[in-house]
Amino acid sequence: MKLINGKGARLTLRSLTNAHMPGTELFGEEERKEVMDVLETGVLFRYNHDAQRKGHWKAKDFEAEIAQFTGAKHALAVSSGSTAVSTMLAACGVGYGDHVIVPPFTFVATIEAVLWAGAIPVFAEIDDTLCLSAEGIRKAITPNTKAVLLVHMCGASADLDGILAVCKEHNIMLIEDTAQALGATYKGKHLGLYGKMGSFSFDFFKINTCGEGGVIITDDEQLIKNAEYLSDHGHSHEGDNRGMEPHPILGTNFRIGEINAAIGLAQARKLPYIISQQRKHKAIIQERLGKIPGLAFRRQCDDAGDSATFFHLLLPNEQVARATAKHFAEAGIPYGYWYDNMYHYIKQWDQVKNLSMPFRMVAHELGLPQDLHTLKFPQSDAVMCRLISFNIRVTWAEEELDAMLTKMEGALRKAMEGVSV
Ligand SMILES: *Cc1c(COP(=O)(O)O)cnc(C)c1O
Repeated sequence: MKLINGKGARLTLRSLTNAHMPGTELFGEEERKEVMDVLETGVLFRYNHDAQRKGHWKAKDFEAEIAQFTGAKHALAVSSGSTAVSTMLAACGVGYGDHVIVPPFTFVATIEAVLWAGAIPVFAEIDDTLCLSAEGIRKAITPNTKAVLLVHMCGASADLDGILAVCKEHNIMLIEDTAQALGATYKGKHLGLYGKMGSFSFDFFKINTCGEGGVIITDDEQLIKNAEYLSDHGHSHEGDNRGMEPHPILGTNFRIGEINAAIGLAQARKLPYIISQQRKHKAIIQERLGKIPGLAFRRQCDDAGDSATFFHLLLPNEQVARATAKHFAEAGIPYGYWYDNMYHYIKQWDQVKNLSMPFRMVAHELGLPQDLHTLKFPQSDAVMCRLISFNIRVTWAEEELDAMLTKMEGALRKAMEGVSV
């Protein structure tokens, strides 16, 4: 994940030098080979030029790979995870003044996409699943609520049964920002397939990277068509005479290029290995840290479906969490304390609270239904202040993981001293 921050730069930098996202850990020959295919023909564009491209269709192959891996009927690759979210919102008809329920714990791209759509973000509480809770959503519903933009934070699922029930009851669309949850399932079905559409990010900090890229999945044929047209100026991509085919709607350029897609394709083929390694390492961590009295973990809605990209500790209270962070830092253990030194919680989002933009947005015109300067998130705060996370690496040698866990156990025991459990 992105480790950008204002205060506490030292700790974050230490984390950054030690941060290993799976895609970057396994980057190599396979990516080079796919890119070379594209460089040989020089066709950097994903559509048309059928004769010159010598059968190389990297964006199409990348889409097919993700569709197959996730079990989606349709997949569309675009230029980033952020443009993927924008494309989904537009394809689903979310626009002017629509209220969209969002979490206060996510990468800020989720919120930006709602604002760029001309829609209005409405924040709801998360719980110890680290995602929006069904109850939180219920309380945030207004007469103008059109959609819930659900983020499956840090690689594992939200309470989909509960959330789908609320959406159904109130006739609200579910759209999934699955940017961080490629490889994660809920009750056997891939995340992103429970709502109208789901989207993944392939930026440099996700489970797979292609430099910059995103993929949208859905089982709905009309929605994927909408997304395809929207992402390429309304082109319908019929035949090989670009510009002369029908243009059913307007759009913009959110296309992915063939070089990025080539890298994404090679990365996507590594997903089964990445996920199985991460899960194996997660089980070892769980077994060891599960023995520490008083230590809790992220509540999993489907533990077996976790992509196991992160491990999440929930300390008994804020004071112990801060002590843990201090002892982890001293022991050289990489970690994230999202509550105040990472850029993923609303507490750090002055630019959102102030709606800071160089142009006048719909949100300025209509105003937000919540006063973000005074709004409190007691339930979210109660989780976030106790949360310490770390990356699960793919390439850990067992001795390495063992040594880290031994250090961690020491640091945790020290931090928990005097806590009655
Ligand atoms: C990374 C991320 C995005 C944006 O993806 P980019 O590829 O960086 O544009 C959107 N939503 C969430 C939850 C993310 O983590």
